[in-house]
Amino acid sequence: MPRPLRVAVVGSGPSGLYAADALASQEALPLEVDVIERLPVPFGLVRYGVAPDHLSIRSVRDTLDKVLDRPGVRFVGNVRVGTDITVTDLHGCFDAVVWTYGASGDRRLGIPGEDLAGSVAATDFVAWYCGHPDADRTLFEDLVPKATGVVVVGIGNVAVDVTRVLAKTVPELDHTDMPQHVLDALGRSQVTDIHVLGRRGPAQATFTTKELRELGELAEADILVDPADLVLDPASQSIVDSDKAVARNLEVMRGWADRVPEGRPRRIHLRFFARPVELRGTEGVQAVVVERTRLTVDGGAEGTGELHEIAANVVVRSVGYRGTALDEVPFDSQRSVIPHVDGRVQRDGAAVPGEYVAGWIKRGPTGIIGTNKKDATATVASLLEDAAAGLLPEPASPDSADFDALLARRGVEVVTTAGWRRIDAAERARGAARGRDRTTIHAAADLLSEARP
Ligand SMILES: Cc1cc2nc3c(=O)[nH]c(=O)nc-3n(C[C@H](O)[C@H](O)[C@H](O)COP(=O)(O)OP(=O)(O)OC[C@H]3O[C@@H](n4cnc5c(N)ncnc54)[C@H](O)[C@@H]3O)c2cc1C
Repeated sequence: MPRPLRVAVVGSGPSGLYAADALASQEALPLEVDVIERLPVPFGLVRYGVAPDHLSIRSVRDTLDKVLDRPGVRFVGNVRVGTDITVTDLHGCFDAVVWTYGASGDRRLGIPGEDLAGSVAATDFVAWYCGHPDADRTLFEDLVPKATGVVVVGIGNVAVDVTRVLAKTVPELDHTDMPQHVLDALGRSQVTDIHVLGRRGPAQATFTTKELRELGELAEADILVDPADLVLDPASQSIVDSDKAVARNLEVMRGWADRVPEGRPRRIHLRFFARPVELRGTEGVQAVVVERTRLTVDGGAEGTGELHEIAANVVVRSVGYRGTALDEVPFDSQRSVIPHVDGRVQRDGAAVPGEYVAGWIKRGPTGIIGTNKKDATATVASLLEDAAAGLLPEPASPDSADFDALLARRGVEVVTTAGWRRIDAAERARGAARGRDRTTIHAAADLLSEARP
């Protein structure tokens, strides 16, 4: 009986778990998959990105969770590759490594005043309201209750999520799994105005209609759109004519432009052809200088020189996520992804058997959760092809006990699948005590303590 092929999948977001699932589904080879995750809990951005009030999308966790019960698949949580173990360590213990560690860095605006207090990245704000162990609680629990005017820069789905969470009341969020301290801070919010800025026009916005529509259905917020922003140039009109989703978005926004505001305590201002050029303030942000833009022939935006100020004490930049490099792993710093051919990592221009990539760190931060399934399955097909051709290099210690012993020597407290199940049960119990499905445990120390038998 040949020994099982040992595969390390680094990252337990959708791409990692879909890769593990594809590996566990094949029957040609005996196989063991360790899903190595730096956090004590699985699911990546499905737990720490997807908006907590989008319960049906978040429920994809239930499908992903089943992968951890498949024969041969282990969750190896609380192990950070690059710190707790090196890439060389992994190659010594596994026949193949699949990088699925996501793209959690944020992009910057590159404008004066960006580092003033009150200017934050959407990545950090989202991490806070989802209860990510690395989130800066002190920062946001100080900032959110003091916020009155907020500028959200960007008009993709993440910007819409951030806007909705800030505009909702606590009763509208109470059924979610948000940590209690997040709900408490949001409950103390004094936000009156949220300005969402897009540097291009409504036909170029990337949000989906379902997400957009929700902004007009909030209990305590009016939505305001300037009808002049919805007048389309011929290029924008042709996008609307050829893309049904964009046409639907326009229809929703035109409906809002016709609405008379109802005098609700919060207002969401959807503003197109507007880009921030400076954040002003002394102690912290007090105002955002915004330049009017116009579309260029290639569909981009250029400034018109026409400036105005928006009063705001919080600015959330939501201009994209970005992959970051891991020591000893090839990285294309222009595109912020790991270079590959058909999912095989490229080193010095050539694909190397034994090293693969899937998900956001392969494609960049695009697509929906399901996109990662097709992507991870294609990568696994390349891996299995190399295994069948006998191309995978032989590791020095291809035994799971050797890998476990290595982690123990490094003093790493591994969270196993059973440990994660204990965390899961504890979160459900906390939720039940408040009449909801789950309450997310925020602190890493608390997660680790719940994981222990
Ligand atoms: C705010 C936000 C909201 C979104 N909402 C939706 C939505 O509503 N619907 C939808 O379809 N899609 C949504 N998406 C997109 C979706 O979340 C992504 O497509 C998906 O999560 C990408 O999967 P991934 O596995 O490549 O990366 P991730 O989900 O980021 O997973 C990467 C994992 O790797 C781990 N990791 C990182 N570094 C290391 C390391 N050194 N060692 C070990 N582990 C490591 C991370 O902790 C993480 O668990 C959203 C994304 C964001 C950012």
